[in-house]
Amino acid sequence: MSKRRKGLISNFFRPSIYVRSFKDVNINQLKRHGIKLFICDLDNTLVPHYTKLPNRDVMNFLEKIKSAGIELVLMSNNVNSRVSLFAKRAGVKEYKANAKKPFKRVAKSIIEKRDLDRSKIIFMGDQIIMDILVANRLKCESILVQPLVSTTYKMSSFNLFLEKRIYKNLEKKNILKRGDFNNGNLGETFELL
Ligand SMILES: [Mg+2]
Repeated sequence: MSKRRKGLISNFFRPSIYVRSFKDVNINQLKRHGIKLFICDLDNTLVPHYTKLPNRDVMNFLEKIKSAGIELVLMSNNVNSRVSLFAKRAGVKEYKANAKKPFKRVAKSIIEKRDLDRSKIIFMGDQIIMDILVANRLKCESILVQPLVSTTYKMSSFNLFLEKRIYKNLEKKNILKRGDFNNGNLGETFELL
C-alpha cells in the first residue's frame, strides 16, 4: 500500500476535538459552528460502564447541550435495559442500544431521520475504533474523550490491541498524541479514502 493511501486511512481515526472529559467540551464552540445534533456514547464516555445512572455532571452537561438548541441522541453498543434506564433518568428522549459500532447502520438511521448537513452533526465517544470511526465514515464531526475507566470490559483483547496500534500510528504521523488534549478544529476537512 502506498504511503499516501496509508495516510488517508489514518484520517478515519482522526477526531475533530480531543478532550480529557465531556466536562471540557466547549458547547459554545459547537453552537457557534452550527452543530444541531449530538450523538453521544454512554459507557466510559458519560459514566463508567458499571455506573447505572447519570450523575450531576452528566445532567449539567446534557442541560447545557439542550439550552444551546442542540438535539442529543444516546447511542451505545450496550444492551437496551442499560441504555434505556440511563436515558430515562437523564431525560434523553431518543436513544439507540445495540448500536453495533463501528458499523454505521444505526448511526445512519439517526441521521437520516433529520434533514441536516453532515457538518452540523457531531459524535462523542471514548473509543477511536468505534465512535470516531463511525463519525468519520459518515463525514461528521467528532469528539474523542479519554475513557473514564481503562478497562477491558466488553472490549476484546483484539479491540484493545487495535486501539493501541491506532494511537501509536496517529502519534507517529503527528495527528494525535494520547493525553495531548486540544479543542481541535471543527470544520477542518481532511481527505478520506
Ligand atoms: Mg464507550
